[in-house]
Amino acid sequence: VSNQMILYVEGLNLSFDGFKALNDLNLYVNDGELRCLIGANGAGKTTLMDVITGKSKPDAGSVYFGQTHNLLTKDEADIAQLGIGRKFQKPTVFEEQTVFDNLELSLKTDKRVLPTLFANLSPSEIDRIDEVLAIIGLKQQRFMKAGALSHGQKQWLEIGMLLVSDPRLLLIDEPVAGMTAQETERTAELLTSLAGERTVIVVEHDMEFVRSIARTVTVLHQGSVLAEGTMDQIQSNKDVIEVYLGEE
Ligand code: ATP
Repeated sequence: VSNQMILYVEGLNLSFDGFKALNDLNLYVNDGELRCLIGANGAGKTTLMDVITGKSKPDAGSVYFGQTHNLLTKDEADIAQLGIGRKFQKPTVFEEQTVFDNLELSLKTDKRVLPTLFANLSPSEIDRIDEVLAIIGLKQQRFMKAGALSHGQKQWLEIGMLLVSDPRLLLIDEPVAGMTAQETERTAELLTSLAGERTVIVVEHDMEFVRSIARTVTVLHQGSVLAEGTMDQIQSNKDVIEVYLGEE
C-alpha cells in the first residue's frame, strides 16, 4: 500500500447463490482522486460500495483504507467513523426540517450525540455548517424547509450532510440522475471542488457527466475491472467496445 493510496481493494470475491457479483476485483484509488465507476446494470458497482462501507462482507479479498485500516474487520458504524461517507441515489433529507437543521442533525448524529433540535451548537460547529452551506451553494436556503428544495438542491444538501463531519472518502451513487442540465453542471463543479482535499468515488451512468469530471474512469463488467484510464482511453479500448456493442 503506497502512502498516497487511500483505498486498496484486492482480489474481492462475493457470490450470491453461486452468482459471482464480484469476481477477483481489484481497485486502487489515490488520496484526493475523483474517480468514476461505470458499468452496465449488474456489473457489481453497488456490491463493491456495499463491501467498502461494511454493509456486505466478501467471501475473499482485502480492503484497506489508508495504510492501516483493514475494513473487513470493521462494521458499518466503525467504517463511517473512520471518515467514509456514502450517498445513495435517492435523496433522503428530513423534508420537514430546515436546510440548516438537516446539517445540524447530521453533525450531531455523526458525533453519536442524540439529536435534539434545541441542542446548543458550539461556535466551531456553527462555522462548519456555514462553511458547508457555502460549499453546497445553499446559503440563501438555510431557513427553507428541505422539502421545498429542488431535486438538485436536495442532492447537494445530502452531500452537505456528509461533509459536516469532514470525511476522507465520499462514495456517491448516481448524483445527477433526474437533474436538469444546469444542476448537472453545478454538481460537476461541486464534486470537482471536493476532490483534492478528500477522495471522491462516483458511480454514474451519464457518460457526458463522467467525461466532464473524471480523470480516471474504472469500467466494471461481471464483477471485475474491464478497463481503466481516461475517458478517451476507455472509449477506444477494444474490450469495452466489444462488451458494450455486444450488449446493446
Ligand atoms: P446497477 O447499475 O443496476 O446498480 P450494479 O453494477 O450496481 O448495477 P450490483 O447491484 O452490484 O450491480 O449487482 C451485481 C449482481 O449481483 C446483480 O446481478 C445483482 O442481481 C446481484 N446481487 C446484488 N446483491 C444481491 C443480493 N443481496 N442477493 C442476491 N443477488 C444480489
